[in-house]
Amino acid sequence: MDLNIVCIPGDGIGPEIVTEAKKVLDAVAKAYGHNMNYKDILMGGASIDVHGIPLTDEAIADAKAADAVLMGSIGGNTSTSPWYKLPPEKRPEAGLLKIRKALNLFANLRPAVLYDELASACPLKEEISAKGFDMLIMRELTGGLYFGERKTEEVNGKLTAVDTLTYSEDEIRRIAIKGFDVAMKRRKKVTSVDKANVLDSSRLWRKIVEEVAKDYPEVTLEHMLVDNCAMQLVKDPAQFDVILTENMFGDILSDEASMVTGSIGMLSSASLNDTKFGLYEPSHGSAPDIAGKNIANPIATVLSAAMMLRYTFDLDKEADAIEAAVKKVLTDGYRTVDIMPQTEEEKKNMKQVGCSEMGDLLVSYIQ
Ligand code: NAD
Repeated sequence: MDLNIVCIPGDGIGPEIVTEAKKVLDAVAKAYGHNMNYKDILMGGASIDVHGIPLTDEAIADAKAADAVLMGSIGGNTSTSPWYKLPPEKRPEAGLLKIRKALNLFANLRPAVLYDELASACPLKEEISAKGFDMLIMRELTGGLYFGERKTEEVNGKLTAVDTLTYSEDEIRRIAIKGFDVAMKRRKKVTSVDKANVLDSSRLWRKIVEEVAKDYPEVTLEHMLVDNCAMQLVKDPAQFDVILTENMFGDILSDEASMVTGSIGMLSSASLNDTKFGLYEPSHGSAPDIAGKNIANPIATVLSAAMMLRYTFDLDKEADAIEAAVKKVLTDGYRTVDIMPQTEEEKKNMKQVGCSEMGDLLVSYIQ
């Protein structure tokens, strides 16, 4: 298969981690007989330095022409970098908002996985972390409270602010379909999270999700109120497979789920539109504090590349191979500095490696 991939190395550790992800993709291409065609584009600070803006129309056109986009991360140190003296619409992050809008990316996928080997990094009680967990949060990205009408005005002499939470049935249906499609590639369970005991938008959400569920008889659907879900994530995260939810609930729950894994350098993500197209990137930022030192953990980006193979190209075997290589590298005791254990006792059995060495190890396991 020919895979046409636009890469956005971006800023900070972005170029280092994207280089490693490409190395791993090349190894997969060689092992399984595919052709990877990459084109790099500039975004964020890297684009500001060359073009004066965080994303050009040419770069957007390149991204639109590709099958998928693989991104590192963008942005610099927000206190010291000259990029943050620019007006907000010219700063690095504006490039990200622009590309999400241009590509109509409405579904955000964030897996949160606790690997046995990293269980000691999990902040939950040992009897909970011992069970492990592997969930994926499917968050609606373009509707709800963050995009509704808002105003602040004086009412009866008091300042009063209003935000509106709007969802149409079409917006709910398209994200629900994505959620069930993804569940079909996983353990076939969807937990739809809402606040249907209070909100009309949630009651519509529940109705449409139930309608969509009828087309997926193999998938088990359950509904959960958002406050309960926030508790269950720390009480019994192993119960979840796909959590399907609206924009603001997803924003909060996906950060909570990331935190309970305890390892930010391991977390991948994807944003999809209603075709097979997707933008794949690690959940973490550009880590300017460690940029250029060859110590960043490339695994989140490598796992994002695996998601790209699975969800854009339907190459499940190839994605499995990358995920198995990641697991093996951990089992064999290799760690970048961010996932090194804290105690001297545990450190004894571990081998600390840099960013490029981690990439080389993953390549060797795929070969
Ligand atoms: P960050 O995620 O970049 O870093 C937080 C901490 O985690 C730092 O100590 C960093 O060294 C560490 N870290 C992050 N990724 C790591 C990795 N792969 N390996 C090892 N350690 C890692 O968050 P921040 O410091 O708040 O943000 C830095 C910049 O990134 C800002 O400009 C922010 O706007 C940007 N950002 C970009 C994105 C994106 O491109 N989607 C997302 C979040 C933040």
